[in-house]
Amino acid sequence: MIKVQRTKTLSTKDNNNSANCIAPNVIYGCFGGCVSTYCYMSRYNDKRVYVNSNVDEIFNSVVEWEKGFVKVSDQQDPVYTMVDIACNSDLVLMQKHMPEPLIDYLKKYDNHPTLNTTMATKYPSLLTLDVSSFNKKPRVRVSVMPQVFSDILEPKMQSITTRIQDINRLKDLGWEVHVNYSPVIFYPGWEELYDDLFAEIKTIAGENKCEIIALTNHALQMQRSSFLAQNLMKYSSEIKNNEGIMRYPLSYKTKWLNTFKYLYTQYFDIESIRYIF
Ligand code: SF4
Repeated sequence: MIKVQRTKTLSTKDNNNSANCIAPNVIYGCFGGCVSTYCYMSRYNDKRVYVNSNVDEIFNSVVEWEKGFVKVSDQQDPVYTMVDIACNSDLVLMQKHMPEPLIDYLKKYDNHPTLNTTMATKYPSLLTLDVSSFNKKPRVRVSVMPQVFSDILEPKMQSITTRIQDINRLKDLGWEVHVNYSPVIFYPGWEELYDDLFAEIKTIAGENKCEIIALTNHALQMQRSSFLAQNLMKYSSEIKNNEGIMRYPLSYKTKWLNTFKYLYTQYFDIESIRYIF
């Protein structure tokens, strides 16, 4: 179900992870294959998709938010105020449902002196926009995980190898491309699988900035997931907050992320990790 509406939720939210702030949604909802597994948005929304047509108001909300923000060089970006424009949807996959072309939406930010955009995608092959004439490179974060995990958690989505192959193509189109190890899945055998993934990325796409974000989960998602998906996500079982978000038990998570970092640095410079959590 797709519903076109004018959103009244026009608040830009502070962020300190992938971006400095999160823009109000142009699209809330997604047709990605992970909607029935780990997708944060789908926890309460299921498969509904809301298309918000008041794009100028959405953009103005970000502009207003930024007036109260003092940018310093930070983990998000050394220069620009980074705006996550695709927090509750994969806008690359969903671009044909946008109320205005994705390129026009990106251009609004590009024409602003200090704002720049970032968005994650699991469908980089669908991103064909040439942004080489932009004033600043918009950022796209290509999400990856070992293919055997993706087969279960991201059914019928773009294969991991072809996502990696898209990285250099997108750079040629003028994008700033980061690798998004998200969600990281810790399940017996993960060390070898991620080691293979790092080797593949190094061979095909070289070194890139990256984010590393361990899986968080929720009981509602577990109920809706396949048996195999539940099994893969089951170690993320420690209740983190009163919303019922679950994470890997902290005592293990710290150790596993350190091992992840060690494996990563056998292939890439530690400085290329922009964010790990
Ligand atoms: S691609 Fe992102 S927004 Fe879409 S279903 Fe998957 S996790 Fe959710």
